[in-house]
Amino acid sequence: MSDNVILSLRNIRKRYGAARPADDFSIDILRGEFFSMLGPSGSGKSTILRMIAGLEHPDSGEIRINGADVTNVPPWERHLGMVFQQYAIFPHLDVAGNVGYGLRRSGLDRAARADRVSELLNLVGLKGFETRRVTQLSGGEQQRVAIARGLAPGPDILLLDEPLSALDEKIRREMQAELRSIQQRTGTTFIYVTHDQEEALTMSDRIAVLNQGRYVQCGAPEQIFRAPATPFVARFFRGSNLLDAQVSAAADGRRDVAICDRRIALADNGRPADAGQIAVRGEAILMGPAAATADLTLEATVVSSTYRGLYTSTDLRLPDGQVMTATQSGGQPLDVGARVAVGMQAGDIILLDADHAAPGAN
Ligand code: ADP
Repeated sequence: MSDNVILSLRNIRKRYGAARPADDFSIDILRGEFFSMLGPSGSGKSTILRMIAGLEHPDSGEIRINGADVTNVPPWERHLGMVFQQYAIFPHLDVAGNVGYGLRRSGLDRAARADRVSELLNLVGLKGFETRRVTQLSGGEQQRVAIARGLAPGPDILLLDEPLSALDEKIRREMQAELRSIQQRTGTTFIYVTHDQEEALTMSDRIAVLNQGRYVQCGAPEQIFRAPATPFVARFFRGSNLLDAQVSAAADGRRDVAICDRRIALADNGRPADAGQIAVRGEAILMGPAAATADLTLEATVVSSTYRGLYTSTDLRLPDGQVMTATQSGGQPLDVGARVAVGMQAGDIILLDADHAAPGAN
């Protein structure tokens, strides 16, 4: 295993009755990365995180941290920190007491512990808050305390389970930027669980998209956003259109794709040659004069068109009856029933794999 891998999950299975929060789940997480597990509620994210923490035990499979098998090692010997959605701070302790809680058995003397607490409070933007009562802090401040407490003992990995979801929108956005900055400044590996696509896209080095205890795609945010692997991932990132298409292998190794009987040759993106669906993002759809010179041009009928401030959203019916949504920044709404040319560039048409497929360990 590469030295660069800090955590390795190998063929993890976990069942609760009919639920399978981990179904042969394998993944490698790299030292110092901000790694997010993204998926809808019930996809297994929290259970997998709790197994990494040692709070749940897998039915089978292996968990390795820094190359050592920790599958049967208790949580407190795994050198991990945890931050949960519920603030989980101790109301009877002041801020310094909370942050320093995990340092009591660290072997540091009182002065060294106080220095470490101040350093962490600085890091999370709570300088001088040592003697404040935690019950008097705002939700965002309480979560900063929880993050400082998780980081205080210098864990190899910080596990975060939807830590921002109880905060209001504005604070949440601020905290996203700040969490990313804290992660970069400390160099600690963060494993972050969320159902919020924007949160994962904003903060992560890599994202694994989970569906029913398996990950269906893992990669850099832009890669997943721009080139979803399956219909599930495409639907999860709002703004993608899924269209049925006839896909076959072309002689030169490319893919021959027909949408409404218009043909286009696409580069082989490693997806099966018989995949029957493509994704195209709404903002990549060209309309009017720009559509005429696109790699693929179709005639469509406007079903509805709505001005939404930053963009105009237009539902378009294609000749074979499929409807897709184009979003144009600014723009004027179009008349319902109008015939318009719509175009797509080859690089914006993403061939999808079938939903049942799950990649092997990366
Ligand atoms: P997520 O974090 O993605 O919302 P979870 O890991 O919490 O998903 O849950 C995955 C599935 O496992 C769900 O169907 C959930 O009901 C089930 N599950 C999780 N924990 C338990 C448990 N302690 N007992 C029974 N079922 C559970």
